[in-house]
Amino acid sequence: MSSTNALEVLIQALRRLPGVGVKSAQRMAFHLMQHDRAGAEALSVALHDAVQNVHHCARCHTFTEDDICSTCLNPERDASRLCVVESPADQSALERTGAFKGLYFVLMGRLSPLDGIGPKEIGLHKLMERASDGVVQEVILATNFNAEGEATAHVLSEALKSRGLHVTRLARGVPVGSELEYVDLGTIAHALVDRR
Ligand SMILES: [Zn+2]
Repeated sequence: MSSTNALEVLIQALRRLPGVGVKSAQRMAFHLMQHDRAGAEALSVALHDAVQNVHHCARCHTFTEDDICSTCLNPERDASRLCVVESPADQSALERTGAFKGLYFVLMGRLSPLDGIGPKEIGLHKLMERASDGVVQEVILATNFNAEGEATAHVLSEALKSRGLHVTRLARGVPVGSELEYVDLGTIAHALVDRR
């Protein structure tokens, strides 16, 4: 009886993953238990370690195991440019282009009033503080080119400009409605160079 229960708990836990419905969760659970016990063990250890050790960088909010992430601490980075992205995945996409040498601020989301995600949830106040450090000369808004990403860029832009900061937006080479993490690197690099 208790073993059935453990399997059910596992399936429910897997369903928390984005895009995983009950059938996929069942398939994963059965696969792990039937064919890959070692993988299941490794997954459980990795999850446990990540939950214990991964938190947000005090400066840019991205994921890190340190107080301040290695990007923020890198003296080679251009501290006068601050690029605002929605997620660590978008940050990785920009990093892969190699076209941006500045620093980042990761919102960890985007404005979505219907889901209860407002300025506080995306750390608007912390972004204001971060961008007003006297070193930042330009804030580049690299939120996604869908309705919520655009709305977020608009709100951030107004707030940052009211502080007298120079604000630019990734250029329109990126297809409308797209998520940065799925856009090809050349397109992002161009959008970065052509920002206005
Ligand atoms: Zn950081």
